[in-house]
Amino acid sequence: MEGESYKCPGCGDAIPADRIDFKTRIGKCPSCRKDRYFPRRTLNSSTGVLAKLGSVVNFFKDKNFTSAYRAAETILMTAVDNAAALFVIAYCKAFTGEPRTRANLDKLFNETLPTLEFDEEELEALKELLIAGAPHLGDYEEQILSSMLANDPQGVAAFADAFSPYIVMKRSNVNWCTPKIWETYKGISAQGNMAKVWYALYVCIEKNPDSPYVNDNFFLKTKTQRFYDTYVEQVGQVFDSIQDDKMRAKFKGAFLNKKQDFINKMNEGGN
Ligand SMILES: [Zn+2]
Repeated sequence: MEGESYKCPGCGDAIPADRIDFKTRIGKCPSCRKDRYFPRRTLNSSTGVLAKLGSVVNFFKDKNFTSAYRAAETILMTAVDNAAALFVIAYCKAFTGEPRTRANLDKLFNETLPTLEFDEEELEALKELLIAGAPHLGDYEEQILSSMLANDPQGVAAFADAFSPYIVMKRSNVNWCTPKIWETYKGISAQGNMAKVWYALYVCIEKNPDSPYVNDNFFLKTKTQRFYDTYVEQVGQVFDSIQDDKMRAKFKGAFLNKKQDFINKMNEGGN
């Protein structure tokens, strides 16, 4: 920020902020004349980024999007690749601004997010924001979950259990059932417990609008078979991936009963 300065890690003299390129995090020290690299943690703590992140999260959760947007802009002046701030800007442009555009959000989740590095605090802030914005983020579930699986294998199951159940329950068809999302659910199930997601996946065997249970139209053979292949079978495979023995037995048991019922109805529907 203007007027601020940073300590040269070599000679200890001050390097003014305007001599630092916040994209590369490199600044030329006026005393020792060397290029100095500032780790993101150093810049984050010296520029108060983490404190500002706290306010961004609070504004966002309170749906005070104007203030959240402004605070995020301030963060990006020094932390140009701060994922939480980038997300807030992109989200506001997609859902609260005029004109609304999803371009930033598409770019963030499809291109930028996989390349970003995070501090632990940045990651926690991003997770809180994503959970708060979840009802609007169903189209990006796979990108978000796979990025969390890669960056935070310890925390990904708890995150998914807060982020995904609503999204799964609100799916209006099974067109979102790509091999990638199933792989991601399986990967997370092998890491930890996401019982609410598993339950939502199970319930949607009956509740998803594409399910033959909804209108009792098992006699539509092609449609029923497609739902069975793209959804029912995949849910069973996710449950097979559950690492915790008790949880796996519980969900697999319920699933096998439901699967048998489905197969019975499918066979009756053909007669
Ligand atoms: Zn120096």
